[in-house]
Amino acid sequence: MMKGKDGETFDFGRGERRGTGGNQIYFVCGGVRASKEEHSVISTCEFKKKMSKSPEEVHPKKAFGWAARDTSGVLSPFKFSRRETGAEDVAFKVLYCGICHSDVHAYKNDWGISMYPLLPGHEIIGEVTEVGSKVTKFKVGDKVGVGCLVGSCHACDNCKNDLESYCPKLIFTYNGIYHDGTVTYGGYSNFMVANEHFVLSVPEGLPLDAAAPLLCAGITVFSPLKFYGLTEPCTRVGVVGLGGLGHLAVKFAKALGAKVTVISTTPAKEKEAIEHLGADAFIVSNNPQQMLAAMGTMDGIIDTVSAVHPILPLIGLLKFQGKLIMVGAPDKPLELPVLPLIFGRKIVTASCIGGIKETQEMLDFAAKHNITADIEVISMDYVNTALERLLRGDVRYRFVIDVANTLKEE
Ligand SMILES: [Zn+2]
Ligand SMILES: [Zn+2]
Repeated sequence: MMKGKDGETFDFGRGERRGTGGNQIYFVCGGVRASKEEHSVISTCEFKKKMSKSPEEVHPKKAFGWAARDTSGVLSPFKFSRRETGAEDVAFKVLYCGICHSDVHAYKNDWGISMYPLLPGHEIIGEVTEVGSKVTKFKVGDKVGVGCLVGSCHACDNCKNDLESYCPKLIFTYNGIYHDGTVTYGGYSNFMVANEHFVLSVPEGLPLDAAAPLLCAGITVFSPLKFYGLTEPCTRVGVVGLGGLGHLAVKFAKALGAKVTVISTTPAKEKEAIEHLGADAFIVSNNPQQMLAAMGTMDGIIDTVSAVHPILPLIGLLKFQGKLIMVGAPDKPLELPVLPLIFGRKIVTASCIGGIKETQEMLDFAAKHNITADIEVISMDYVNTALERLLRGDVRYRFVIDVANTLKEE
């Protein structure tokens, strides 16, 4: 056991990571951030190397997928193992897996926390092939999903309040350390095994390919809309950035009853935002007249931009007590102008994915309101090209890999 300056403990023997609040590595999505703690006794990568076993050492079931082997980030076929289906586990054949922007950061080790081989994918839709003896929620043949999380402590206040995504011991679907000490592998693979608590039921009627991105991008925007009270009728919501997260934010906010304004640097997106996505208004953020005209009109803004950008103009768009909610994650600090916050009692905040209960609620809501992601379905062998295109913003709005039909064992 090692002890950090502030009392956090690392137990190498059982492969646990313990920490509180600001001490942990956050690797969540929507815009994902690794906040490397100042107090850690060793670098996280070193720490993980020491405590991780490979699945091959402890798991009997042969699996395959595509993984990055190093920071070049090139994905290629990869054979590995998964655990047996335990009493509380659900095993499922992967049908589709969305490509999230955080996958790009992970496979290139942009945050310094990647463990190779790194097999990404946390927008996973599949069909159940086996259930453990204690599983109650699922049966063979069910359509299911797994998002960003496959484990948490089940004992902390956040877990007890269905906020597993804020558990200090949460376990990510890939590049995480599972309870048995192995590194987790994601959905760019032929099958998954997950504890049933972290498996979502895909409602009838949701197209399986276009539902995949809901499991990360969808819940990343749905959760803050609900938590920050942007669901009252006639609430005015702004959405900054029209990408994977932004286009879903528009759809969910509209379905929840808000009047939605898209705020974008690209005038050409207006037609798309209004005619296709159903936004009520569109503002070009570098057009001073348009920004001035909209000042003080918004109850909340979902900011999905992950590049460094000025937030003062966005704060200006907020009403008294309005909320600017960051779900993208710029890799450098933003400038925070305090005076306009003081004089409008405004809030600048952020939000992670939701817990499992809320993720199910989001899927059910999406099915009821016909909300799916706009996607481009690709084959597994196109994944490297897709990742490059994603870096250039060249996708409308999410790539989804047709895993079942295109992943071949090599
Ligand atoms: Zn994601
Ligand atoms: Zn917990």
